[in-house]
Amino acid sequence: MTGAKPDGAVPAAEERRGSARGPRLPDHVARLEVPTPYPVGPVNVYVVFGRRLTLVDVGPNTDDGEAALLDGLRELGLAPADIEQIVITHPHVDHHGGLDRFLRRHPGAKVFAHWAAAPFFGGEPAARLGFYERWLTQTGLPAPLVQASLRGLAGLGMLEPKAKPHRWLQDGDLLIMGDWVWRVLHTPGHSGAQVCLYHEPSGTMFTADHVLPDVSSNAIIEPPPAAGAGRPRTLVQYLDALRRVAALPVRLALPGHGRPFADVAALVHQRLDMHGRRLQHLLRRLQDGPATVFELARAMFAEASGQQLVLALSEVQGHLDVLEALEKVRSGPAPAGGDPAGALVYSAVGSGEADGAAPAGRAE
Ligand SMILES: [Zn+2]
Repeated sequence: MTGAKPDGAVPAAEERRGSARGPRLPDHVARLEVPTPYPVGPVNVYVVFGRRLTLVDVGPNTDDGEAALLDGLRELGLAPADIEQIVITHPHVDHHGGLDRFLRRHPGAKVFAHWAAAPFFGGEPAARLGFYERWLTQTGLPAPLVQASLRGLAGLGMLEPKAKPHRWLQDGDLLIMGDWVWRVLHTPGHSGAQVCLYHEPSGTMFTADHVLPDVSSNAIIEPPPAAGAGRPRTLVQYLDALRRVAALPVRLALPGHGRPFADVAALVHQRLDMHGRRLQHLLRRLQDGPATVFELARAMFAEASGQQLVLALSEVQGHLDVLEALEKVRSGPAPAGGDPAGALVYSAVGSGEADGAAPAGRAE
């Protein structure tokens, strides 16, 4: 590590960047808003000051993102070489895509991420496409749209970093960032490798994309972490992980997008209510007759196209997975000669009501 480290003082830049509304950041944390080319808008990169100067995420693999990160660090009196370690909250390209660019400027930074993130660092994005082709076909998405979606996913995969983390994290690990000891909470759902970082004495949590203030996180369908395993039920996992976080006395949440917020439990309960309503809506719809994931997604998210369509399909698939785990719906192959070939059709079992409760989530 080189260069002098700022020591404790609230950086002036943060006043302009982060805390004009909502709760103030701790004195030793700064939030940098880094632009992304994705619909979600800017991503937050946090700087944690102290004896282990840490970046939480690095932003996307774009010229604009890299420039904004470097400018933000400069305003805080920092150069890349001052950063001792980088903790990646989850391996989505808005958060970890810029890692190679950063490490070219400072190869000595240590990188940490959850072990389930391994395929998304220097991995073979093409290897995932077979999984997505099978799943998207099962949703009933027409073949030309399957191919267009695969091209979009392949393009995103190209933006992943080649560098590997130095240490893999797992649930319960303790990590020093700045001067505080943070507990790693594995909160799968939005990403199978999603972690939150929790400082228990102050009730401060980096919630990353697990709980976001302005949008509900999508429990994106992902390949299984181990070859040959079944498709993870990502929304089942996500609802469990939401409840886990809501049960903790968090007083300040530092999200991956948007402003810091205070009342995590209230926000989680809003999200759980929303998912409960969506479960009931889908169940009522299926009580009128069977449907594919694509048909249901088209009805619920009529304007979704491109990669947003994959998110819409993930959203519906996740809710059907919850209903299936509750034995409220069942799936089976479309009738022979049905269109499109290979689609699964969902139908309601009996006439029970979805109650929004999810069973214990586990990847299969
Ligand atoms: Zn994100």
